[in-house]
Amino acid sequence: MGRKNITLSKEHGLNPVIPLCVYCDQPKNEVAVLGAAGDKLARELGHKDGQMPMHAWIPGDFTPCDDCLKKGGVGVVAVGPNREVEGVWLITGGAAERVFRPSDLERFGRERYIPVTKEAAERIGLLKRKEDEDDK
Ligand SMILES: [Zn+2]
Repeated sequence: MGRKNITLSKEHGLNPVIPLCVYCDQPKNEVAVLGAAGDKLARELGHKDGQMPMHAWIPGDFTPCDDCLKKGGVGVVAVGPNREVEGVWLITGGAAERVFRPSDLERFGRERYIPVTKEAAERIGLLKRKEDEDDK
């Protein structure tokens, strides 16, 4: 992992957090040091004092945890037209090979997650189409 400079939080210093895996909701085997950025995120998460809780999902962290990777998981993130996240899933590597082009898999193989458009997620069957829901 690359070295990144962070601005320390005035009140909470490194303001560390153990990131939660977005797919299985389990703590990852790592510590994220957020510093001042953690103050802002903590407040967004409802911690008024700006101190990060011990565990939290860090927005934008879609890399599966070690356990999910051991199970052969590949994360899929659907993003809407304004890049808002519409849904996240973990599928097996085998399913990913059937659904995605080899060039896509290669491109995202290092990060272990694949961002797809909302339309693509619907086509694959991960997201329900609007019409399907209206059938109820
Ligand atoms: Zn996981």
